[in-house]
Amino acid sequence: MKSSFNASLVNDPFGDPGLLVQFLFQKRALLFDLGDISSLSNAELLKVSHVFVSHTHIDHFIGFDRLLRTVFGREKTLTFFGPENFIKNVEGKLAGFTWNLVDRYEESLTIKVVEVREDKLLKGTFRAIDKFKISGEEEVKFEDGIILNDSTCVVRAAVLEHRVPCLGFSLQENLHVNINKDRLKSMCVVEGAWLNALKQAVVEEKPDSYAIEMPVTREGISSFEKNTLGQLKENLIEISQGQKIGYVVDTIYNEPNSKRIIELVKSADIFFCESPFLADEETRGQERFHLTSHQAGTLAREAGVKKLQVFHFSSRHRDCREQFYNEAQETFLGKTKANCLS
Ligand SMILES: [Zn+2]
Ligand SMILES: [Zn+2]
Repeated sequence: MKSSFNASLVNDPFGDPGLLVQFLFQKRALLFDLGDISSLSNAELLKVSHVFVSHTHIDHFIGFDRLLRTVFGREKTLTFFGPENFIKNVEGKLAGFTWNLVDRYEESLTIKVVEVREDKLLKGTFRAIDKFKISGEEEVKFEDGIILNDSTCVVRAAVLEHRVPCLGFSLQENLHVNINKDRLKSMCVVEGAWLNALKQAVVEEKPDSYAIEMPVTREGISSFEKNTLGQLKENLIEISQGQKIGYVVDTIYNEPNSKRIIELVKSADIFFCESPFLADEETRGQERFHLTSHQAGTLAREAGVKKLQVFHFSSRHRDCREQFYNEAQETFLGKTKANCLS
């Protein structure tokens, strides 16, 4: 697995949950949850392009104001994703301030909001220049769990149960496609924009029979040769998998939720999973719609993830940090019998 991004928790596991994913070769970052973000610098916040909010309980959304304060007055578009009622939540936040002076700024912030429902995505836009009045409301299809699909990654969401809808997320980095420069030379192929089209065809998983025209120069004569994607994959390209990250917080352990979580984070390289309660607090977890360390370990094991990172520990258990890690890890590694859902 190769990766062009780096994921790290925003706070200590007893602090508000949040995950910052920074791209190594771009001035760009993604932020999962928006609780207390005082540990992040303005420079880090200015790189954020997309924010994924699991739900709007205060420990997951109080950081909206800090982020807004940092990016306001800049020519920038920020896209926020959240669960049912999210557009109203953002509208309410923005309505809490007075915007009569926005026309004094030369640059204008645009906030795009995507509300994730079971079967559709609702969209709305708030522009600083319009004093953050909502515009461009529309409804689009929600297919295959995909909420973001760009040149670097695909983000999927699943609607989970937390007495209110709460979103779980997975981030799948696109394949890394490298061109073998020595092979390029020996095949007399001319470099150019077509190589990007070739990479794109690989990322988009076009069939091997897909035809690609490539410019070649042999003995001073330039021409175009047709090749199939399959041939080029064999001769010219090195492909490696990108990184997959899972992020699940604030949810109850039950059959439908477990199914959704396992499908969402399947085979992730790293799974960030909440664990507010210890293994013997199952009843408390059910009452509060949260997971225990043991349940987090069970989910990670069943999803076949490579690494489990538990967090969002209850502050009542400040002295039990290692116990959380150990209990989750033992179940994850199969040393403790996994939870039985029946
Ligand atoms: Zn919550
Ligand atoms: Zn929470």
